[in-house]
Amino acid sequence: MIVSPPNLGQDFHDIPLATELEAALGLPAYLERDTNVAALGEHAFGAARNVEDFLYLTVSTGVGGAIMTAGRLLHGPDGTAGELGHISVELDGPLCGCGGTGHLEAISAGVALARDARAALARGDSPFLAARAAASPQGPAALDARDVAEGEDAGDLACAALMAHARHAFAMACAGFVNAFNPDLIVVGGSIAEHQGDRLLEPARAEIRRGAFPTPGSRVRVVPAQLGPDVSLAGAQPLVSGRLDDERWRAGRARLGATEFPGRP
Ligand SMILES: [Zn+2]
Repeated sequence: MIVSPPNLGQDFHDIPLATELEAALGLPAYLERDTNVAALGEHAFGAARNVEDFLYLTVSTGVGGAIMTAGRLLHGPDGTAGELGHISVELDGPLCGCGGTGHLEAISAGVALARDARAALARGDSPFLAARAAASPQGPAALDARDVAEGEDAGDLACAALMAHARHAFAMACAGFVNAFNPDLIVVGGSIAEHQGDRLLEPARAEIRRGAFPTPGSRVRVVPAQLGPDVSLAGAQPLVSGRLDDERWRAGRARLGATEFPGRP
């Protein structure tokens, strides 16, 4: 059941997607959040092989997360646990798409960088973004996170400040995650993370050394994801093989509209 996804409209609330897919295909179907499936994929085939306690983060259009603890995804009673992009890192920060204030996603995600790029352009702070907007038929609406990253590389001070702010927020959040979850690994995927590489990960490692508790801080490694954009496809195999014969995952299917979560396998 898709219950209330924060970045989609009312049409996507309370949709029994797995049941409808089963009816249409005549095959068993299982629904899971993309980041949870990505964590299963990295666990089975990628950066977290043989690691039972890790966090998966994706920094892309949004910031998503998943928590694997003792080899199992942490779901919580409603299946919503692991939304690591929706924690506050700025008391008076920007409003998030979910309605929260100062969330990591509202600062470090692609949509946040695009929003901040348009604001920098409107203030007249960025010659680089002004040139990019002028070169596009869509004008300022065409600006996205890639423009900001490329502006930093070109020496534009406003773009460099935005990227540094995004990396700082990500680093602070990672140090908090280490204190909260004591993971062996933080696996970081997503298009922005892929493009930034160690420019994103190294500040997180430094902030963990500086600000996290020494014991979990000295254990954890912050590493890039290995499976690229097909990670959720790779995760479908362990997802289905882990649930196929487990009747608990089918317990709520008969009552369409039920929001009860069947619990983890
Ligand atoms: Zn949020």
